[in-house]
Amino acid sequence: MSRSSLRREEREKKTRKINDSSKTLIFEEMYSFVSDPGTNNKYQKSHKEEEERQSKHMCSLSGISSNMWWQKCKAVLGQSFNLEGIISTAAVVTRDRHLAIPHITVPDISWIDWVELERRGFRGVIFDKDNTLTAPYSLALSPPLVPSLERCRSVFGENIAIFSNSAGLYQYDVDGAKATSIEKSLGIRVLRHGTKKPAGTAEEIEKDFGYATSLLVMVGDRHFTDIVYGNRNGFLTILTEPISTSAEPFIVKQVRKMETCLVNYWCRRGLKPSGHNLLLEAMQCVKDPSTL
Ligand SMILES: [Mg+2]
Repeated sequence: MSRSSLRREEREKKTRKINDSSKTLIFEEMYSFVSDPGTNNKYQKSHKEEEERQSKHMCSLSGISSNMWWQKCKAVLGQSFNLEGIISTAAVVTRDRHLAIPHITVPDISWIDWVELERRGFRGVIFDKDNTLTAPYSLALSPPLVPSLERCRSVFGENIAIFSNSAGLYQYDVDGAKATSIEKSLGIRVLRHGTKKPAGTAEEIEKDFGYATSLLVMVGDRHFTDIVYGNRNGFLTILTEPISTSAEPFIVKQVRKMETCLVNYWCRRGLKPSGHNLLLEAMQCVKDPSTL
């Protein structure tokens, strides 16, 4: 074999080798792509699942956040805006005006002779909180009222409670935290309930106290909530003057003025409160605090 033919043969061998290795590389590349479809699909699937999971998580977070926002909004609005109250007020103004007239009006609870009330047949007392026992939103009992509340507690024992449109209302005090704070601060239990005054019945209160509402006294500072609720459900109703209106929202002050104007006008025209079989007895229980 000549030298030139040997060189040609070597070149051909090299070329074959290069071609073979290229084919192997291309095949391996192709094989690697198709050899484990599961891995690739798994990757794509898990990636997709992760995206979906994150998307759901974000939706869920945004749902929770918007839900919490709405709950907070309702709580804030609800303190000043009482839809049931508005509907009830419309019914009282047009039809049941007598429900807004208290049986007894006093400057504050220190004018009430609790001993005499008990002696004449009453068995328990339900208080509104804001502006009846405390300044609005305060946890502290108004100092001038301390002796009177002590006397009330000593006479009626466990048969006194607070029935508020904020603390203890499931809608705005979901976990009962406000109610618990007030109980600790004032030493009076706060009734948990689902309906804002003046709406709702007094069945739960009657069960709780073990007495008919005709033997219970409802004390509050608002005609169209505390007094309407009390009269509609058969309590003896006592209206107090508000402790302080300075911290009240503007709208509440205006509504309070409107309520007072209306009720005073109706009373001047001879409107009387709803009947109560112990009213004459109860009238004997209002006294000057200096004599108590
Ligand atoms: Mg009040």
